[in-house]
Amino acid sequence: MKKLLAPLLSAAMLLCLTACGAPKKAETSLFAMDTYMTLVAYGDGADDALTDAARTINELEQLLSRTREDSDVWRINHGGGQVNPTTVQLVEQAIRFSDETDGAFDITIAPLVDLWAINSDAPHIPSQAEIDSLLPLVGSDRITPNGKTVTLDSGCAIDLGGIAKGYTSDRVKEIFARHGIKSGTVSLGGNVYVCGTRPDGKPWNVAVQDPRGGGYACTLTLTDTFAVTSGGYQRYFTAEDGTIYQHIIDPATGYPAQSDLLSVTVVCPDGTRADAYSTALYVMGEEAAIRFWESQGSDPFEMVLITADGRIVCTPGLTDHFIRQEDASYEVQFLSR
Ligand code: ADP
Ligand code: MG
Repeated sequence: MKKLLAPLLSAAMLLCLTACGAPKKAETSLFAMDTYMTLVAYGDGADDALTDAARTINELEQLLSRTREDSDVWRINHGGGQVNPTTVQLVEQAIRFSDETDGAFDITIAPLVDLWAINSDAPHIPSQAEIDSLLPLVGSDRITPNGKTVTLDSGCAIDLGGIAKGYTSDRVKEIFARHGIKSGTVSLGGNVYVCGTRPDGKPWNVAVQDPRGGGYACTLTLTDTFAVTSGGYQRYFTAEDGTIYQHIIDPATGYPAQSDLLSVTVVCPDGTRADAYSTALYVMGEEAAIRFWESQGSDPFEMVLITADGRIVCTPGLTDHFIRQEDASYEVQFLSR
């Protein structure tokens, strides 16, 4: 099995920081949620902000992990019981994202995630019969959140892997704000939060990884927002016949999504939403992803789609924030409103 772990700063940030006259800088790295995370903050409250953020990340992992036997998600998946209100609210949000994306994002995908076990050391190519037997367990109407509890229909299970890091980045944003941080970066694998501007007042450069190689496909200049990338190129395994199976499952088929996209980056001021959407739009594929973007009303988001046929498709709101990567050889197309 070949598993490519997210490199150090996947969807990496190019940290172009001024050396002199800069405010106090603090930096920390940790491994949580199966992801290498890096947090940087500037300003007087930077050390405390990072200490608080790291503590919160570990607490959230404790609640939201599927594999820890004392987590809330474990409890929900094993008969229910009282859980933290945070968990209930996140599940409620996940159900809303599932409804909005017509089920392309669906946390009840868990039984199929387990069946394929793509993120594990023992991936498995199931039979159609195995898939068919589990597909009826998928559907967000099978979840009943109720104040302090989340109950599932019999045989169902949830997996918050497609949303937990986005939610965590939202919480880190709140912590930075509480500590008065006006400049910083948070990279939770493909989930990036840029706080304010760089210390020199310029926007942050957020590089979008090239899914076909080790470098970058393009760079976005961003201020105070989230950029979340999902793709099939980071967590996958290659079968003996050479077929590649990646980790995002299409809830409609029960198979790893056969996307015509290599990666989806969603940019918006809500990290949880950006995370759910990036997973969902990857499942949808180019055409449906564009239709979904067009149908967004008062709460628009921006996106960068990298297609399997070598194009970068970008929403117009990013026109002035897009830097081409000359050696990446993608044709760049901007959508119009
Ligand atoms: P990453 O976790 O690598 O940042 P994503 O945010 O796209 O990537 O989440 C993918 C993870 O979400 C999978 O590893 C699995 O745990 C879960 N998942 C897989 N397919 C779906 C889906 N269609 N909807 C919701 N979650 C999914
Ligand atoms: Mg996601």
